[in-house]
Amino acid sequence: MTAKSKVRVRFAPSPTGPLHIGGVRTALYNYLFARQAGGELIFRIEDTDSTRFVPGAEEYIIESFKWLGIEFDEGVSFGGNHGPYRQSERREIYKQYVDRLLSQGKAYIAFDTPEELEAKRKETDNFQYDASTRTQMRNSLTLPADEVERLMAGGHQYVIRFKIEPGRDVEVDDIIRGRVSINSSVIDDKVLYKSADGLPTYHLANIVDDHLMEVTHVIRGEEWLPSAPLHVLLYEAFGWIDTMPRFAHLPLLLKPVGNGKLSKRDGDKLGFPVFPLEWHDPTTGEVSQGYREQGYLPQAVVNFLALLGWNPGGEQEVLSMDELIHLFDLSKCSKAGARFDYIKAQWFNHQYLLQLPAKEWTPEFDKILKAEGIDSTPEREAQVVEMMKQKVIEYTDKEGNRRKRNISFVTDLWPLCRFFFVAPDTYDPTDKFVRKNWKAETADEMQQLSALLHTVTDFTAEGIKAVVEPWTEQTGIRPWNAWRVALVGTGQGPDMYELSAFLGKEETLQRMTHAINTIDIN
Ligand code: GLU
Repeated sequence: MTAKSKVRVRFAPSPTGPLHIGGVRTALYNYLFARQAGGELIFRIEDTDSTRFVPGAEEYIIESFKWLGIEFDEGVSFGGNHGPYRQSERREIYKQYVDRLLSQGKAYIAFDTPEELEAKRKETDNFQYDASTRTQMRNSLTLPADEVERLMAGGHQYVIRFKIEPGRDVEVDDIIRGRVSINSSVIDDKVLYKSADGLPTYHLANIVDDHLMEVTHVIRGEEWLPSAPLHVLLYEAFGWIDTMPRFAHLPLLLKPVGNGKLSKRDGDKLGFPVFPLEWHDPTTGEVSQGYREQGYLPQAVVNFLALLGWNPGGEQEVLSMDELIHLFDLSKCSKAGARFDYIKAQWFNHQYLLQLPAKEWTPEFDKILKAEGIDSTPEREAQVVEMMKQKVIEYTDKEGNRRKRNISFVTDLWPLCRFFFVAPDTYDPTDKFVRKNWKAETADEMQQLSALLHTVTDFTAEGIKAVVEPWTEQTGIRPWNAWRVALVGTGQGPDMYELSAFLGKEETLQRMTHAINTIDIN
C-alpha cells in the first residue's frame, strides 16, 4: 500500500430492515481487524436505493452495536471528518465523480426506457447491456450530440452507464480467497447514476466513498464477491488503483441443517433468532425475535459469531473481546461457508452466564418471579441462583424432541426453582421419585428427622449437617430422598442441607409435617 498506512475499515449497511446476524459478524470482523491494527472503523449508511428504505432500520443497527459492545470511531451518529456518512447526503459529491467519468469517455448516458429494455430482453436470450449490444441502444454513443442535449433538456429520464472494455482479465486479490480472475466481457455496463432520483447506484457510491474515506480494507460478506471485479475496474477508471483497498470476502453463514444460506425461516423453524435485537416491522407489524430479548448476553453473541468462519486454533473457545482482538487473523478465515450452530450459541451463553455474579442474574430472575406472583429479595434470589446455576434442564425443542441442556438463560431457572418459593401442596403419586422413596416406614423416619431438626440452633447448611450426619450414622437411616420429596415434592433441587437452610427452620418443619400427613402410599 502506498500513501495510506493507517488501517481504516468500514461497515456499510443499507437501512433496508433489521440487521441480519451475518451482518453483525461482518461488522465484528471489521471491528476486530481495526482494533488489532490500531486503526479506525467507520459506520456508513448506504441508502441510495430509496425504494428499499425502511424507517427505524438505522437506529436499530446503531442500538444493536451499542448492545454488543462494537464501537465505531466515526460515521453516522459518531461524527468524524470524512462526512457526511449517509450516502443520501452526498449527492453532489457523487455527481462530480460521475461527470468525471463521462467527460473522460469512461461512462455514457443511456435513455432506454424500462419498456425498451424489457423488449430487448424478450428478443435476445441472456441480453446484457455491454460492448456487444450498446451500439443497438439509445445512448450517447449512438445518438447525435444535439439529440442527447435535446433529450436531456426536455427532461427525459436517463441513466449513466459504466463503459466496460470487453475481453480483459480483471484480477481481484482477496485476502481470504486469494486471486480471483474474471473476464470483463461477462460484466455488463452497470448503471452508475439515475437521473430519476439524482442518486448514484450502490457501486459508484461505494467506490467513491471508500476512496474519499481512505478505506484500506473492504471486509464484507461473500455475496459481494461478484461485484469486486467491477469495483476494481471503477478504481482503475478513476485512477485510484494504487490506493485501492484490499478485499476480504467472508464465508457465508449456512443453515443449521441442510444446504444453503441461513435464513429467517430457519430461525423460526428451529426456534432461534437471526437478528441481534427484537424487530418490529413498521409495515406488517410482524415481530421478529432478537438475541437480546431471548436472554443472550452480548459477550456470548460476540464470541459465538467470532468463531463462525474463523478459528484461532488451540482448544480455548471462550474468548473475551480483548482476546479476540489479539488473536484475530483475516487470512485464517475459511473460504467454505460456516454452519450456524445455534445449540453452540446456547452453550456460549451458558458459559458467560456462569461467569456472571449471581446478583447480576437477579433483576431478570426477579421479573419472572413477579410475573408468577412471588415476592422475594435480591439476596434470596441470588442464593437460589448459586444453588441452581450448574443444573441441567430438560426441554422440548421446536421439532418436538426431548432434549437436555445446561442452564443457558435466566429463564431456564424458573421451572427448576418453583419449590424454593412455593411449598408443594400435593404429592404426585405417579411420580417415580415419590413412589420409590416414600415407603411404609418413611413417615416415621421423617418424624424422627423433624424432631431432630427442631433442636438445631444453628440452622445453616453446616449447622444442620453437623446434627443430621451423626444421626444417620447412628441409626443407619438414609433420609435424603424422602426429605427431598417432603421439601420439593419430587426429585429436583440442590443439596438438602442447603435447601433446608434456605427455607429456614419453620418452613422446613412445616413442609415435613405436611408431607407426613399427606403422602399416602399403598
Ligand atoms: N451496502 C452494502 C450492504 O448492505 C455494503 C456492501 C459493502 O460492504 O461493500 O451490505
